[in-house]
Amino acid sequence: MISYKAPIGDLLFLYEEVFDPNDISNLTSQQETTTDLVKTIWEEGAKFCEDQLVHINRSGDEEGCHFNNGAVRTPEGFKEAYSKYVASGWSGLTCEQKFGGQGLPNSVNIALEEMLCSANLAFSTYPGLTRGVYRALRLFGAEPLKKLYLPKLVNGEWSGTMCLTEPHCGTDLGLLRTKAIPTDDDNYLITGSKIFITAGEHDLTENIVHLVLARLPDAPKGIKGVSLFLAPKYLPNNDGTLRSRNSLACTSIEHKMGINASATCAMNFDQAVGWLVGEPNKGMQAMFTMMNDARLGVGMQGLGIAEISYQAATTYAESRLQGRSLAGSKHPEKPADPLVVHPDIRRMLLTMRSFTEGARALTLWVARHLDFRDNAVTVEARQSSDDFVQVMTPIVKAFLTDLGFDITNIGLQIHGGHGYIRETGVEQYVRDARITQIYEGANGIQALDLVGRKLPAHAGRYLRSFFHPVQNWLEKQNDNDEMQVFVAPISKAFGRLQIATGYIAQSGQKNPEAAAAAATEYLRLFGLVALGYMWGRIAETSLNKQSSATNDFYLKKLVTAKFFTQHILPETGSLFASIMSGSETIINPPIE
Ligand SMILES: Cc1cc2nc3c(=O)[nH]c(=O)nc-3n(C[C@H](O)[C@H](O)[C@H](O)COP(=O)(O)OP(=O)(O)OC[C@H]3O[C@@H](n4cnc5c(N)ncnc54)[C@H](O)[C@@H]3O)c2cc1C
Repeated sequence: MISYKAPIGDLLFLYEEVFDPNDISNLTSQQETTTDLVKTIWEEGAKFCEDQLVHINRSGDEEGCHFNNGAVRTPEGFKEAYSKYVASGWSGLTCEQKFGGQGLPNSVNIALEEMLCSANLAFSTYPGLTRGVYRALRLFGAEPLKKLYLPKLVNGEWSGTMCLTEPHCGTDLGLLRTKAIPTDDDNYLITGSKIFITAGEHDLTENIVHLVLARLPDAPKGIKGVSLFLAPKYLPNNDGTLRSRNSLACTSIEHKMGINASATCAMNFDQAVGWLVGEPNKGMQAMFTMMNDARLGVGMQGLGIAEISYQAATTYAESRLQGRSLAGSKHPEKPADPLVVHPDIRRMLLTMRSFTEGARALTLWVARHLDFRDNAVTVEARQSSDDFVQVMTPIVKAFLTDLGFDITNIGLQIHGGHGYIRETGVEQYVRDARITQIYEGANGIQALDLVGRKLPAHAGRYLRSFFHPVQNWLEKQNDNDEMQVFVAPISKAFGRLQIATGYIAQSGQKNPEAAAAAATEYLRLFGLVALGYMWGRIAETSLNKQSSATNDFYLKKLVTAKFFTQHILPETGSLFASIMSGSETIINPPIE
């Protein structure tokens, strides 16, 4: 069976050496968040993931969820694991204390999300959506709704869902048909069919809180006529006890390629009682709050699954004996050398490692800005961090989930034929990773969000929140000779990104199709530069620390940084060439 060791050492290195932990503990709400506390929380989280979740990952995939007459049973072990998850307080880690949460920063939580996704991606989908519901309700819900629902979501007794998709409407939510009719009791009766609803029905919690997109009777056509409603499985009394079953039900669950232990439900709402969340016809504003949260969470799924694939591939490459090293046998006493001696295997392992560790740094960088966005003292600081989160959200979602799929695939390749058969367990990672590129807005849609909304927003203000720190850092490195081996390729890649940005902004103004045609390549170029910058920061820290180090931690970082900047970053050259050659060959040929 595949084992998992949470990367606590790497996380702490990033948290307290690459970034400054005082930036977090100086926030008014985080003065007790010392590095010791962070370490303790991560170690406890690691224990939970390593002991409770890894061993039910494969069995959960084999068994899947069971549907019987509207009820869904999760695979064996999931209910117990969820009870332990809730009992340990993991469900309320970042939630406000007044609702029963622990008020800890996103920078701490992000690591736990990664660990959960590494250990059991399907399990992570149940609490994952609840966090998004909490945030949308906290920001847009009326006080009585918040008072009744938030404490139950925070303590994990109730879970949440996001009900957007309908059979005829996925990406284009303006097409949705579900209706909400106002009643005399200040609530609404919701009628319609939703499909593909993650955790729409299950046996982990006593109640399920659905956030549903629907139309009011007089709503304008399209996306501007969509409102958001809350409709629970059981209608609660004011004290939170359950009163009666609401008129909504799961009609079937999907049989699918991966995340088989995550229930994907078709839901029927038949005059279900619901309450408006936010303003009429402004449902997308509230839903985007939830989706942006969820998009970062899905990015973490990409990282988490990449990490466990890397761990499995490393173990295999060290133990599987095949062939001899071209540089002369490394283990003449054995019948063959381990796979890891072969340059092509090492190339694959370094690709996995450099992407995974670089992506971890990137997610922590974004999480810090989530904390500053919510808690910084000045309006300007909060605004600037919000700008950064806005621009990085589609990149984290799409780039990291593309990485998740690519890396699990490389991990399978390292296992050869043994990876393709089920026994080793690594083919599950490839199957599980695949959905992350599709849900929460398919990756092509994330790229459109980047070029269509984020790039032009406020005359490029969002972009500057990324470009300025990178530019400043590069300039600071000019006098540092040892850093030039890293800085030169990062600088070149950054230059390509700057030129491509100007080109897309200009061509997009003349013809939006031109920007759309370049969007996916641009997002990848952006992601690679962001990771290049992270590796630059990691290399800078490692060079400073290496001379006083008692082990080879920093040396390994420097080797991996060199690999990334020399062997991965050059891909920015081909992306740049493709973007700059224009969009005519994509958009001009007639549709037929
Ligand atoms: C396992 C699973 C779990 C899910 N969980 C949930 C959930 O909890 N709640 C929920 O509401 N939904 C959920 N979904 C639905 C998911 O979010 C949608 O499948 C996704 O948004 C894409 O919609 P679609 O499948 O209808 O594809 P379509 O919208 O038909 O798109 C098909 C392809 O065309 C592309 N495309 C579409 N429009 C454009 C455009 N304008 N420009 C360029 N490309 C375009 C898309 O990127 C995609 O690649 C889930 C789906 C699955 C499979």
